[in-house]
Amino acid sequence: MPVLSREQLMLRWTSAGDAVATRITVTCATRRLAASLNETYAHQRMADGLLAWPAPHCLPWNAWLRELHDCLATRRASRGEAAPILLSEAESLAIWLQIVERARRDQPLLQPALAARLAREAWQMAHEGGIDLPLRDAADPDTRAFNHWSGQYAKRLEALGAWDTAQLPGRLTAAIARGELPAPPTLVLAGFDDLPQARQALITAAQTAGSEVLELEALKLGQRISVRVATDPAQELQQAARQVREWALAEPDARIAVVLPDLASRRDMLLRCFDDALRGQGEDCPRPYNISLGTPLAAQPLIADALAWLDWACASAPMPISRVSERLHSGYWAGRPHLDALSDLDWRWRNDRRERLSLPVATALARPREGASEGRQRLAAALAGLRLPAGAHQPSDWAQAFADALAALGWPDSGSLGSEEYQALQDWQQQLMLLGALDSILGPLPAREALRILREQLTGVVFQPETPDTAVQVLGALEAAGLGFDHLLVLGLDDDTWPPPPSPNPFLPLQVQRAAGLPNADARIQLRYAQRTMTRLLASAPDIVLSHAARVDDRELMPSPLIPADAVRAEPMHGVDGPESWQRLHAARAVQSIDDARGDTLPENALVSGGTQRLADQAACPFRSYARHELGARAPEEPTAPLDHRERGLLAHEALARLWRLWRDQATMLAQSPEARDEALRTQIGLTLDRFGGQFPHRLSVAARQIEAMRLQRLIGQLLALDAERLPFRVGLIEGTAPDQAEDRGRQAHFGELSWTVRPDRVDIVEDHGAVLIDYKTGQPSGFADARLLAPQLPFYALQLDNCIAVSYALLRPGEVRYAGLSADESTEALPSVTALSKAKLDSELRAGGWPALLSHWETQLGVLAQEIRDGHASVTPWNRGSCQNCDLHALCRVRETVNALIDSDAEVDA
Ligand code: SF4
Repeated sequence: MPVLSREQLMLRWTSAGDAVATRITVTCATRRLAASLNETYAHQRMADGLLAWPAPHCLPWNAWLRELHDCLATRRASRGEAAPILLSEAESLAIWLQIVERARRDQPLLQPALAARLAREAWQMAHEGGIDLPLRDAADPDTRAFNHWSGQYAKRLEALGAWDTAQLPGRLTAAIARGELPAPPTLVLAGFDDLPQARQALITAAQTAGSEVLELEALKLGQRISVRVATDPAQELQQAARQVREWALAEPDARIAVVLPDLASRRDMLLRCFDDALRGQGEDCPRPYNISLGTPLAAQPLIADALAWLDWACASAPMPISRVSERLHSGYWAGRPHLDALSDLDWRWRNDRRERLSLPVATALARPREGASEGRQRLAAALAGLRLPAGAHQPSDWAQAFADALAALGWPDSGSLGSEEYQALQDWQQQLMLLGALDSILGPLPAREALRILREQLTGVVFQPETPDTAVQVLGALEAAGLGFDHLLVLGLDDDTWPPPPSPNPFLPLQVQRAAGLPNADARIQLRYAQRTMTRLLASAPDIVLSHAARVDDRELMPSPLIPADAVRAEPMHGVDGPESWQRLHAARAVQSIDDARGDTLPENALVSGGTQRLADQAACPFRSYARHELGARAPEEPTAPLDHRERGLLAHEALARLWRLWRDQATMLAQSPEARDEALRTQIGLTLDRFGGQFPHRLSVAARQIEAMRLQRLIGQLLALDAERLPFRVGLIEGTAPDQAEDRGRQAHFGELSWTVRPDRVDIVEDHGAVLIDYKTGQPSGFADARLLAPQLPFYALQLDNCIAVSYALLRPGEVRYAGLSADESTEALPSVTALSKAKLDSELRAGGWPALLSHWETQLGVLAQEIRDGHASVTPWNRGSCQNCDLHALCRVRETVNALIDSDAEVDA
């Protein structure tokens, strides 16, 4: 093919005058190259002193095809013939999705959207490569499926009287060959490394029809080529950023390009490194470089948020509670300004203890009570507005319904949008309009299907926020086609990445792809592609640095065989010659030190919130104690199915309390037959579960309730059997109050100059002996004489009783139902199975001092804890690893950042 230099092209354009747009057509491999050639011509015309000039006909390949189609359609219409409709990408994708989604009813497909995308790609590749459809060799099930789907797709196009962009080259070739469409007088091809069969056929048809076809000469700028090795991919990017900065500082107007064959997979890391080295401070400071590769519109936070709300509105199944919380705190809806109301609502939903929440239930729970805050009322109204109509509707109805539902939700909250988000919002609206244009293509469909199609549209659209013109371009290997630069950096030239490994399309037989020479088919094709690209790149700048990493993870990498053997070795770029972003932040911070190890002190006789649990928390970790009881900090509930450990413990407590309020002493219990006792227990368990089921109707299914009732019956029944064997006793206190008093009032006690509400689970009075303190335990109990009193409740209650003679846990665990504790009395008659103090594994001094010494020891230790509470002692000093394991405040105390060593290697304290 005859070659035309750039200078000759400019000359032809200039000399064509007003006919430039009709006489010479330049079709380019990329949009960038078309823009660059137009710009070069504009500069030349301005240099000629012109203020206005006819624009040349220079455009990307696909835009040229569309133009040809429009011309053909107009000609046919003018003759009164049916003009072919050209499907948009969104329309074509929607048809593929619908076909594959329907095929799913007959054959299982794990990822129908991915299958539709790959099938569409196979259709496009087959048309580009001139492969006849249906495929003949269809032994493979994937190929058979593709044949079936592509047949349906072709029929749909025929029924619509439409073409898609994959068919365009073939249809236009035929139209030119028939003389129905005029060929351009001169056609210049710019930046094409290779021409697939369908494109080649179109060009040949134009040539046959009289077009002068020329190829724009490739650049020949390569003079100085060096190669630099980095230790790993991260260092390679850091070096690249420094190299770019060095070039840009030395020559501010230089055109600099950074090319990465694997740009998609390294985009995020590149942004971090380049922002660190090149971007100014402050969020609004624009990037001094332009990156060609955007991210899918669906992945933009604003758009992902809209899709997640609509998902909830469409979902037939309720959403997991953690994702519901995410919705509430999304930051893009009307709830954003009402933080207090949001948190309130989140608690309300979580305290309802459902694992999943549907939108109608969430909306019902959000309904404000009388006197609710304005914020709460607004949230409730916004949520109530997020509704979609039932049944099947046209895509245009769904586009409107989606927009209306989001608007009612207050999405997007305009105060939350920055410049990029505004651009994403405009693209979103555009995609909604495209969805709305699918009525004739798709017909009525349910909400979920409409949303799936919208999601795929948004996944297929690349979001590329507008950036100011910059001299530094970051490009993929194909995007640099035909462009010239002053400096070029090509990264990722290791033998793993370049030539790229093959990745054939699964729907086309491999031998067919190979025979047609389709991209990615095999290693030979990939090598040819990489060689051509490399030749082009090495000629596109006078100064070129090639770079690769020596290792990735634990693997050694070799340089790509396509790096020229005579490339000069460049020195590594060591050291940080400007502050990295985190260092800049650190340097700019305004430091204010706050001692948060101490909170407010409590006044004398203040009522301690949390009662004796506060002592236990203080012993485990002063911060936990202060945060939970003074600040009201709690992690959100994460309900488990069917009941969690805590709920089971509370049910056992309640059933036992009900039972002993009924019997009040051992004699009453013993007066009943074993069957009557069992029946009484069953009744109280039933009442307990009724109460629980009334509060949380969704927590216990019929089967789960039966299992829970059997579990409680067995455990409590075994404990009652032990009680039946004890010395006669009467129950003095239940949950801190006398059995005949109103439930759950507790008692007030004074200790350490503070007031406490005390609620011992049970106090039994054993005639002629004394009081026995009992604490029901469904988990692991702690000791009574540890270095720090981690289980202070029983010691605290013991000090409040005049005649306490034993403290004991009543262990209620499957396989272990028994009393375990300490008795002052050598004989342990009052409560068999507890250990007499004289035989307990305690400090010998304590043992020798007997019960009064133990009480005094407890009083001292409790005094220390009470004093810490009074003083507001709130340091993040967990007593041992177990303290943190059973705590839900990690996110608040950030213990892992401050005392990691303690948490990770606290063997000494643990011991
Ligand atoms: S996680 Fe550990 S350090 Fe943090 S509050 Fe809980 S017990 Fe204290």
